Amino acid sequence: MATKEQQGLLRALPQVEELLHHPYVLALEDDLPRVSIVETVRAVINDARQGILAKTVTSVSTNDLASQARLRGLTLRRASLRRVVNASGVIIHTNLGRSVLAKTAVDAVNDVARGYSTLEYSTEHMARGSRHDHCEKLICTLTGAEAAIAVNNNAAAVMMVLAEFAQGHEAIVSRGEQVEIGGSFRIPDIMAQSHARMVEVGATNKTHPIDYERALSPETSMLLKVHTSNYRMIGFTESVSIKELRHIADAENARRDAAAQAAGLPGTADHVMVYEDQGSGAFIRLDCFGEYAEPTVAESVKQGVDLVSFSGDKLLGGPQAGIVVGRREFIDRLKANPLARAMRLDKMTLAALEATLRLYLDPQRALAEIPTLAMLATPADQIEPRAQALAAAIRATLPAGCAEVTVEPEISRAGGGALPMCDIPTFVTKVSFVRGTALGCDRHLISKRDLPVIGRLSHDALLFDARTLLNTEEYKEVALGLAEYFDTLE
Ligand SMILES: *Cc1c(COP(=O)(O)O)cnc(C)c1O
Repeated sequence: MATKEQQGLLRALPQVEELLHHPYVLALEDDLPRVSIVETVRAVINDARQGILAKTVTSVSTNDLASQARLRGLTLRRASLRRVVNASGVIIHTNLGRSVLAKTAVDAVNDVARGYSTLEYSTEHMARGSRHDHCEKLICTLTGAEAAIAVNNNAAAVMMVLAEFAQGHEAIVSRGEQVEIGGSFRIPDIMAQSHARMVEVGATNKTHPIDYERALSPETSMLLKVHTSNYRMIGFTESVSIKELRHIADAENARRDAAAQAAGLPGTADHVMVYEDQGSGAFIRLDCFGEYAEPTVAESVKQGVDLVSFSGDKLLGGPQAGIVVGRREFIDRLKANPLARAMRLDKMTLAALEATLRLYLDPQRALAEIPTLAMLATPADQIEPRAQALAAAIRATLPAGCAEVTVEPEISRAGGGALPMCDIPTFVTKVSFVRGTALGCDRHLISKRDLPVIGRLSHDALLFDARTLLNTEEYKEVALGLAEYFDTLE
């Protein structure tokens, strides 16, 4: 039973209609459909009722409830998937959408999204075309491969290659390459999913060519090499190169052909293929990373892989995609696999991918115009003036005495599982708090704003890395977000 006091509070609760006519709530009508406003008001009143019964609400004010409804309404209005300002210094930030697209790629997306397109139409033949054709030639030119196919992402590409070539057969993979890439992508699980039998060889730290040779059986259809992406073993380690895997496969294939011929069988025997899941997908070797630079796709092709797959939105700096390149006969089989249809790319992604690839035809242009490459390659001495400019923008906006703003040497990260050993020297703008706290400010910047600002917490300070800021508008946004936070402390 509700007490007398509770009954009084319940009676004091406003009607839905009354709140709907409150000026705070009326102001929502420009931004929200009526049904959403009514639902919000109902929810606020209902929560207050529950609160009264639970004795967590001990007073009722129509103004407060209207204000709550307004806040909830405004949160409802903002898109769930929206832009953020990335001041974290992590360049290929998977949680923040990995690569930022080049301007030409964004323009290409805009163009095909706003109108009809040649997605599956050949203007040359005036007949039906294939969506696979738009990027294939470009990819081949840039990697030296015979053929290529692009699908939804690299996880899909790996899945499709295993399903097509290793299903019901054995695929040999080193114990040192049994990795989890993140987001539940694990090599043994993907193998099981595609009904390939995984044959593990070697030890965690060392695998030798002889390990693969000993594991070969008539059931073997693939030698799989997995790039360990976001993890490195250092010290007493050894792995088998693509070149060596090529030799092993060639010798085995020659043995099988000879045996088939000796037995008088027609045609050639089933061959063992060499497939590499390369992950990061570099098209240009970034010299600034020295010995730690990721191998390029062209290098793998040159060393003799039959197929190699990689992501479109890691070091390539394009849209989310998974690209497989290699021997034409194998790519043709992938194109015919039903998974290729299930995992195919949409027109917007294809437009972005083609435009990104075109930039690589002139490597200097690629380095300058593909944001991921530009951010990775900018030396620290060019970041320092940006960090100073950001510091100046912050100092100009903050009320006096709130915080101390300095510029300090720090480290940026490639992210996306690429270049894990590379410390990328940078300069950050450091905000040390005199009033409030770094934690409280971080929460404000991320949770309270329509345009969230992602910095980096470091002890009692917030760091902002200008390396991943896109323009001076974003500097202003960081400064504005900080000023807002100090306003909330009044
Ligand atoms: C990133 C990565 C994947 C997954 O690629 P997605 O494009 O994110 O699906 C698979 N394998 C390796 C080695 C990777 O680095």
